[in-house]
Amino acid sequence: MSADHVLLLGPPGAGKGTQSKRLAEEFGLEHVTTGDALRANKHMETEHGTPASFMNEGELVPDAVVNEIVQEALSSTDGWVLDGYPRNLSQAEYLTDITDLDAVLYLDVDRDELVDRLTGRRVCEECGANYHVEFNPPETEGICDACGATLVQRDDDNEETVRERLRVYDENTADVIDHYRDEGALVEVDGEGTPDEVFERIADVVRGD
Ligand code: ADP
Ligand code: ADP
Ligand code: ZN
Repeated sequence: MSADHVLLLGPPGAGKGTQSKRLAEEFGLEHVTTGDALRANKHMETEHGTPASFMNEGELVPDAVVNEIVQEALSSTDGWVLDGYPRNLSQAEYLTDITDLDAVLYLDVDRDELVDRLTGRRVCEECGANYHVEFNPPETEGICDACGATLVQRDDDNEETVRERLRVYDENTADVIDHYRDEGALVEVDGEGTPDEVFERIADVVRGD
């Protein structure tokens, strides 16, 4: 049987969202993404402040807020692909406490390519589809192919915040990759090439080929 507790790791812009959506469709999994969950609640007041106050600066939202989102999402579904979590070692420990994992993948993409992917990203807030002005443009500029809504640039996809997110990734999330690598669980996948090519590499791992 194919893996149904799938973790997709990688730096911002590696293609986690793009590939998780496809995996979810192909393998009948739920796409659990902390980024989307936080954006849907970005003005929610918590004792630490709103998610937006961290996200717009490119900083991590406090663990307590994110852990609760993940715990609730995973406990209400059997099969899932988790995207955007864990982002530090303490979140990784929390995840180990609440569930097991069948496959841990790491999408590897060159740093310059990440900046180009992130600053050119456009998203549909209505249906969640994502595009790139150059690498994956919609049929009509600025309009979602899937639902016709107007595409927007995320508040944190400007070059300055992108650089900060990559710095935060190096400072916090690189350790998470090492942690799974040390455990022998990590499967590294080349994240460059077309989305179709990358998907085939990932799907082989999830199928257990
Ligand atoms: P990307 O896909 O570009 O990496 P995400 O949508 O995953 O971006 O995350 C956007 C922002 O949401 C992050 O910069 C961070 O502020 C917040 N965030 C998402 N996931 C987490 C997490 N696991 N822990 C803390 N903050 C998170
Ligand atoms: P993440 O969730 O890891 O931040 P996304 O899936 O949102 O990454 O992808 C970031 C940007 O790069 C989006 O604009 C997306 O359309 C584009 N993208 C995704 N995969 C590829 C690819 N293989 N080649 C070129 N651009 C890509
Ligand atoms: Zn749409």
